[in-house]
Parts: sequence; structure tokens; C-alpha cells
Amino acid sequence: MDSTTIGFIGLGNMGSRIARCLRAGGFRVVGYDSNPEAAAKVGIEVGASVAEVVRSAQIILMSLPDSKVVEAVVEGDGGVLSSVEKGQVVVDLSTASASSTIRLARLFNDRGAFYVDAGISGGAAAAEKGTLTLMVGGAEEAIERLTPVFRPIASKVVVMGGAGAGHTTKLLNNFLNAVSLAATAEVMVAGKKAGLDLHQLLDVLNASSGVNFATLNRFPKIVDGDYLEGGLTSRLMTKDVVLYADLLHELGVSSLNTAGPLASFGLATALGYGDAISNRVVDAIGDISGGIRLNKA
Ligand code: NAD
Repeated sequence: MDSTTIGFIGLGNMGSRIARCLRAGGFRVVGYDSNPEAAAKVGIEVGASVAEVVRSAQIILMSLPDSKVVEAVVEGDGGVLSSVEKGQVVVDLSTASASSTIRLARLFNDRGAFYVDAGISGGAAAAEKGTLTLMVGGAEEAIERLTPVFRPIASKVVVMGGAGAGHTTKLLNNFLNAVSLAATAEVMVAGKKAGLDLHQLLDVLNASSGVNFATLNRFPKIVDGDYLEGGLTSRLMTKDVVLYADLLHELGVSSLNTAGPLASFGLATALGYGDAISNRVVDAIGDISGGIRLNKA
């Protein structure tokens, strides 16, 4: 095991792009994905199993759909915990449950290894360019060792605290992302049905108090028919909102605003857009509003 090799488990939309940035940054990357086609497409060395990846590197990154999968990959038969050694650092880049993360971090600590949670933000575009924002939780000595690994993949790294603090931060951020995307989609469908010029509408929103990430970065493209494919799906967005609701329940904070995004991305999934980018929520709302498409008459 040498420090210039990185293990990478989960080579989907985000993982494949991050793995390529690491390789471009001078690391040897040994990857694994349960879908062999996804792994083959990345153009890195592919390990035969999770255990082989864990044996090949001091630092292992994971980018998996949700905590259920993370727990299976970590604790299951032949999982990360069965071959991890003292001093190894495992980083979870997935958007996952903070309480699950805290529990897993204890299991790694019991073996003298480290588990760091690093929520990622910026979507597929930032993953491609290596300009993600990372929200990190875990032991300081492990996070220090990750500085050279984070350099080729992120332009902003904020250490939020101990185990789970990164994933907690990520869930808070994603909830706001979900609310603003779902609400803006609804507004844009209404604007279209009201006969407004959508470029003008966005121009006004972006100079007014309705401005948000979706009005600034998503809808200027969507109104011209570019849905920015390749980013977070409606299925994963729903998962993020459910994790947020769980988190608030655990914290004893009332969540009064989860219903809107849950209904919107649930609708998108029910209408067949679940595995497409979550921006397609606007088409789902358009479907039930009389077949509205923003870029068509
Ligand atoms: P994805 O579904 O494209 O990728 C997940 C990959 O994990 C897939 O290739 C899948 O085959 C693989 N996988 C599933 N089970 C596995 C197993 N048991 N062993 C090994 N590999 C397995 O998802 P994504 O969009 O890349 O997102 C990954 C994580 O990052 C999610 O938790 C998501 O919420 C989070 N995230 C995504 C975005 C985004 O814009 N896509 C942004 C921020 C955070």
C-alpha cells in the first residue's frame, strides 16, 4: 500500500468524475462498482472486489447511493470492515444519514482506522472540474492526511466538526436545494401557462427577492431545453429530503416544509422521471398542468 494510490468504491455520476480528477491529479486510482459497466467506463484500474480495493490503498473513498448501500458495503460479507487495517482512512462522499455515519465511525475507530464523512456539493459539473465544496466531519489527524487527496477534487473544504458533522451539513444544504428547485419549477410552469416570456421572468427573479440557485444556474438552461443531464436524480433527491426529515426528528426540530419537495420529487418519480436528473421535476409538474414544457409552445 502506498500513499499515492487511492481506492474508490462507487463509480456512478459523481464517483466516476471524482475518480478521473484524482487520476488527473497524479494519483493511481483503483476502483470498484457493483455494476461492471459503470466501472469499465471510467478508465481507471478496476479491482475485483471491495476487499481488493481496500487492500490496495491507505485511503479509500466511497460515493454510494444511500446509507443502506453504504452499510452493506462497509459491514456486509467481504465488506470494508472485514479487511480494513489500522491507520487506513475511509471517506464517505455519499449523502448519508449522520446517525449511521456516527455509528460506522465508531466501528472503524475500534479497529484503529478512521471514517471521515465528506458531503459533496456542486453537482456533476463541479465534480467534473474538480471544484466541489466538501463539508467534512471526523478526526483531525485523518482529515489532515486527506489534504492532498481533496486538492484535485474540491475548491472549498470546510471541516464542520467530528463524525457526522459533514453529513449533517450536507442534509441541511440539500433540503434548501430541494425546496428551491421544486418551488422554482412550479413557478416556471405557472409563468409559462400565464404566457410570460420565461427569459424575462428569470431576469426579474434574478434581480429580485425570489433569486436562488435554481433561478441562477438551472432554469436559464432548462428554458432552452438543456436539462443539465448527469446530476442528482429525483430518486436521490427524495432520499436526501427523507434523510433531512429523519435528522430533524432525531434533533427534535419540527420540519414544516418537507411536504412540498417530497410531493414534487415523489411525483417526478411516480411519472417515470425518477432516474433522470431532478431538474426534470419541472416536466412532471408540467405533465399534471396540461402538458406544459418550458421550451415548447
Ligand atoms: P449514482 O447512482 O450515479 O452512483 C452510485 C454508484 O454506486 C452506482 O454506479 C452504483 O452501481 C454503485 N453501487 C451501488 N451499490 C453498490 C455496491 N453495493 N457496491 C459498489 N458499488 C455500488 O449516484 P451519484 O449521483 O453518483 O451519487 C452518489 C452519492 O453522491 C449519493 O449519495 C448522492 O446523493 C450524492 N450526491 C450526488 C450529487 C449529484 O449531483 N449527482 C451531488 C451531491 C451528492
